[in-house]
Amino acid sequence: MKPVIALVGRPNVGKSTLFNRLTRSRDALVADLPGLTRDRHYGEGRVGERPFLVIDTGGFEPVAKEGIMYEMAKQTKQAVAEADVVVFIVDGRQGLTPHDKTITDFLRKAGRQVMLVVNKAEGMKYTSVTADFYELGLGDPYVISAAHGDGVVDLVNESLDIAFAQRAPEPETEAAAGRGVKIAIVGRPNVGKSTLVNTLLGEDRVIAFDMPGTTRDSIEIPFEREGKHYTLIDTAGIRRRGKVFEAIEKFSVVKTLQSISEANVVLLLLDAQQDISEQDAHIAGFVLESGRALVVGVNKWDGLDADKRDAIKMDMERKLSFLFFAKFHFISALKGSGIGPLMKSIDSAYAAAMAKLSTPRLTRALIEAVEHQQPRRKGSIRPKLRYAHQGGQNPPIVVIHGNALDAIDDSYKRYLEKHFRETFSLVGTPLRIELRSSK
Ligand code: GDP
Ligand code: GDP
Repeated sequence: MKPVIALVGRPNVGKSTLFNRLTRSRDALVADLPGLTRDRHYGEGRVGERPFLVIDTGGFEPVAKEGIMYEMAKQTKQAVAEADVVVFIVDGRQGLTPHDKTITDFLRKAGRQVMLVVNKAEGMKYTSVTADFYELGLGDPYVISAAHGDGVVDLVNESLDIAFAQRAPEPETEAAAGRGVKIAIVGRPNVGKSTLVNTLLGEDRVIAFDMPGTTRDSIEIPFEREGKHYTLIDTAGIRRRGKVFEAIEKFSVVKTLQSISEANVVLLLLDAQQDISEQDAHIAGFVLESGRALVVGVNKWDGLDADKRDAIKMDMERKLSFLFFAKFHFISALKGSGIGPLMKSIDSAYAAAMAKLSTPRLTRALIEAVEHQQPRRKGSIRPKLRYAHQGGQNPPIVVIHGNALDAIDDSYKRYLEKHFRETFSLVGTPLRIELRSSK
C-alpha cells in the first residue's frame, strides 16, 4: 500500500508549491481532456522507486464552526486521520505565528506522526531560520525550499521511512496474492458499491469476511465466477459497512486512491437515477491519472423507462467523453442484471492492460500510422518516428524513438494512440505514448 503524506499548514506557507513539485504530472495529455475534473489536492508522487500519495489539505482554519472554512477543516481532519505522516509546513521568512500554534495543538490531539518543516529557507542559515520554531515542541525542524527544491527529496525519504516504520506488516489474506484480476469498485456514496459486492460475492461470503480490522487495512477478497478467479480490493471497507455505519464515513478519497492503485481493473460505479456529479468526475479523473484499466457500471438501471434511459445515455456520453476507451454497462446491482457482461468486460480490459506488444509489431504499426498521416512540420523541422517498443503494462506504454520528437503536438500523439489502440484492439485500458528523441 502506498504511504500517504498529508501537507498541513496555514495559507501561503507553500503547500501547493510543494504539492506540485511532488506530483509533477507525468501525463500532460490527461490535463486537456474536455470534461475531466482533476482534483488538485490529491496526487501521486515518487522518489526513486518509492511511490506515495500526497494530500494538500488547502487552507486550514481549525476554529471555524460552519461554512466553507468548517467544511475545509473537516476535510483536513479526515486527511490527517488517514495519513501515515503529516508534514506540517511553516514559513521561515515570516517566522512563528499564533496560527501555527493552533495547528500544532490540533495535530497533537490527532496523534499523528508530525514532521515540522520550515519552508522558504533558500539562502538562509539553519540555525537562524529554525530558531523560532522550537517553541512548538515538535523537535528539530526540517528545512526546505519548495520553490527551489532544496531538501525536498530528503524530506520525502524521511517521511516514507517513518511511514513504513509505523506500519504493521501487511496481512497476506489467504492465497489472495497474485490470484486473478484485482478489481477495485469505486464510486461516490450510495451508487450501490456494497450492493454490488454482495451480489458478486454472495451474502455468505460477505459475512464470512466481515471481520474486524483497522481502517488502514487493505483487504483482498478472493472470489470465483464462472470458473475464473478474481480478487476484490476492499480498501474502502465497502463490504463491512452495514446500515448502522452508513452515516459516518461514507467516502474517503484516500481509500479510493489506494484501492485504485492496488487494482488491475477499476470498476467505476455511477448511479443512473442521479445526475453525473462533480464527485463522479473527480473519481473518474483519479482513475484516469492512475492509468488503471477501467470498466464503467451505470447502476440502478432497473425501473427506468425507455425515454429516461436514452436521456441518461446521452448525458453520460457528453459528460464522460474522456472515458471513451472504457466499456459502459447498464446494470442493476440489486436485481443482479447485467453482471455477466460486466465481468466479461473486466476480463477483456485486464487482457488489454496486460497485453504484450512486440517491438516488430509495434514498429510496423508505427510505420503504418506515419504512412497514413505524417506529423506536421514545426518550422523547418519534421519529426522523424523510427521505431517503437513497449515500456510497460497496466497501462501499456508505447515508447517511440526517433528524431525531433519534441516537435510532435498533442493532436498527433492522440492520433498515434488511436492507431495503436485500434491495431491491437486495446479496449478498456488507457494507453500511454512516450516520445524519446535520440537527439
Ligand atoms: P499555500 O497557500 O500554502 O498552498 O502556499 P503556496 O504554495 O501558494 O505559496 C505561497 C507563496 O509562497 C507563493 O507566492 C509561492 O511562490 C511562495 N513560496 C512557496 N515556496 C517557496 C519557497 O521555497 N521560497 C520562497 N521564497 N517562496 C516560496
Ligand atoms: P454504496 O454507498 O455505494 O455502497 O451504496 P449501497 O450499496 O449502500 O446502495 C445505496 C442504496 O442504493 C441502497 O438503498 C441500495 O438498496 C440502493 N441500490 C443499490 N443498487 C441498486 C440498484 O441496482 N437498483 C436500485 N433501484 N437501487 C439500488
